[in-house]
Amino acid sequence: MKIAFIGLGNMGAPMAANLVAAGHDVMGVDPVVAPEGLPMASSVAEACGGADVAITMLPNGEILRTVAAEVIPALPQGGVFLDCSTVDVDSARAVAGDAAAAGLGALDAPVSGGIKGAADGTLTFMVGGGEAAFETAKPLFDIMGQKAVYCGASGAGQAAKICNNMILGITMLGTCEAFALADKLGLDRQAMFDVVSTSSGYSWSMNAYCPAPGVGPQSPADNNYTPGFAAELMLKDLGLSQDAAQASDAATPMGALAQQLYATFVNDEGGRGTDFSGVLPWLAAKSRD
Ligand code: NAD
Repeated sequence: MKIAFIGLGNMGAPMAANLVAAGHDVMGVDPVVAPEGLPMASSVAEACGGADVAITMLPNGEILRTVAAEVIPALPQGGVFLDCSTVDVDSARAVAGDAAAAGLGALDAPVSGGIKGAADGTLTFMVGGGEAAFETAKPLFDIMGQKAVYCGASGAGQAAKICNNMILGITMLGTCEAFALADKLGLDRQAMFDVVSTSSGYSWSMNAYCPAPGVGPQSPADNNYTPGFAAELMLKDLGLSQDAAQASDAATPMGALAQQLYATFVNDEGGRGTDFSGVLPWLAAKSRD
């Protein structure tokens, strides 16, 4: 396929590289970076002209809307606009509506799996939009990822992503504060892991991404909390879920508290630039108030 790939940062560059390696004709666009081995266009219009699919991997919904205004008129009729960024549900739906009005297929397909998943081609895609567009994009999902789940109409992919990450933020905070309590009670962290990881307190945060260094599988905790998944990205996603909860009148008290705690950690107490599991040393060093 002829593919325009717009936004070649930490995630976009390795995703585009995997498409090139699989033999697709990819042209990149990014105002800041130009990854080695990827032909670059000087404008979105140049990259999208004659393309079958335009993929975006951008920082937020506002930038997505700006870029979409350039992609939509440039992509040939019947083309597919595939946004893989994590953005607010409203932006995803607005962009999909504009694309559909212009005779394009549109998908919101945020990912989980992080930078490693992007490099290894093992991302999970959560996809909202038209089923025909999903079928067109399926071979690309198979290259960039290990799984693509069709979630429903436009916005459903973003909805799945922010709900998943709200659970992740809450369980990571719960896991970290339980370790901090265990420390104060004199309970060995390894013993705590051995019990919880096989008991009803288990979760992905404990079992697959244990925030305690030297305990459980290798995780950012074993690398001085170098991200991994940066605390500020978790804060972004918790903000998106709170915006969506506000807009849809959903009661999400734990999500709201998780957002507050990550905001304090990231903005006021040194968490920016560390992995989101770095709340363990932060909480462990604190006293009750
Ligand atoms: P990044 O900041 O590394 O990359 C974003 C890229 O977009 C940058 O290279 C930037 O120059 C480019 N860009 C900005 N404005 C542009 C424009 N107008 N036109 C073209 N390019 C433009 O971010 P990232 O880590 O690659 O994340 C991208 C998206 O993926 C975000 O929505 C993020 O939430 C999501 N995500 C990231 C991770 C992760 O672990 N990094 C995991 C899952 C999802």
